[in-house]
Amino acid sequence: MFRMVYRFAVKTYRLPLRSPLRTAHGVWAVREGLIIRLEAETGAVSYGEIAPLPQFGTETLAEALERCLGLSDKTDDAALDAVPAQFGCVRFALAMARAANPSVDKEKRLPVTALLPAGKAALAMLPGKLEQGFLSFKWKVGVNRPEEELGLLDDLLGRLPAYTRLRLDANGAWDRRTAEKWLARCAERPIEFIEQPAAPDDGDTLLGLAEDYPVTLALDESVTGLAAAREWQGRGWRGVFVIKPALAGPLDELAAWAKASQADLVLSSAIETALGRAAILRFAFAHDLTKRAVGFGVGEIFGERLWDGQIIGPLVDAGWSEAVDAEEIWNALN
Ligand code: MG
Repeated sequence: MFRMVYRFAVKTYRLPLRSPLRTAHGVWAVREGLIIRLEAETGAVSYGEIAPLPQFGTETLAEALERCLGLSDKTDDAALDAVPAQFGCVRFALAMARAANPSVDKEKRLPVTALLPAGKAALAMLPGKLEQGFLSFKWKVGVNRPEEELGLLDDLLGRLPAYTRLRLDANGAWDRRTAEKWLARCAERPIEFIEQPAAPDDGDTLLGLAEDYPVTLALDESVTGLAAAREWQGRGWRGVFVIKPALAGPLDELAAWAKASQADLVLSSAIETALGRAAILRFAFAHDLTKRAVGFGVGEIFGERLWDGQIIGPLVDAGWSEAVDAEEIWNALN
């Protein structure tokens, strides 16, 4: 088989978040990652993004960089394909840079979930998001005391019109008793699903909760890679899978798994830049990866158009990716 040879280069980026993100993992203030550049013998240039989230079990930034520096300036498909499976973020980027851009019907649209901050700040942000027309919301829980958050849940639901949907994301913070309290409360409430209600590796609790309560549950941190997603399906997980494609390896592997398994999929941001997001959205539209609202309503996360792309509203259309200029992003980095 013909093997393409490439010139390979990598640059790092370090972007402060406009407002630090508070989740059960702690406070996140700076996004660091890598942009890679491939130049084929034909002269064609393409780019990929590596946006690790080690708290989700991915490789670290240092590990990703070391892996990239291990690829020589002149590399080929064989070397790029040989990057081991545990480097999900690096593999995502290498596949992204080598993928042909799929053609997409520009009229296609997907609903977007607006991310609400933890605690009371959610109530303050909600009216503006409703005014913008968002129909799907995700609220970060497991950050403050459960009693406090359960009280806020009712305030929040009281202000959400009946036509909207609310997702909760506990980021694995609850023990079984706390999770049970929440699930009992949510059983009578219009909650779309609860994401990661227990620790990622606590299979007994997660499967038990799914069995005992009528609330739809979703795995996120548990299924950072597709191998883990397959394993959970094998163990009988029938709930939602939240997949951050930037962490999960090549997009075509994600599409193949989703199609074969018929998994109930939610696509979600890893707070990558517009470059990675453009590839993910382009692919999602081309392959009809999901019908559920996509978790890309992270707002002006970096506060700069170059890195955020066009502001994403309640609906994202298939043309969104076209406005992202990969070369401009590359040239902005040292
Ligand atoms: Mg999550």
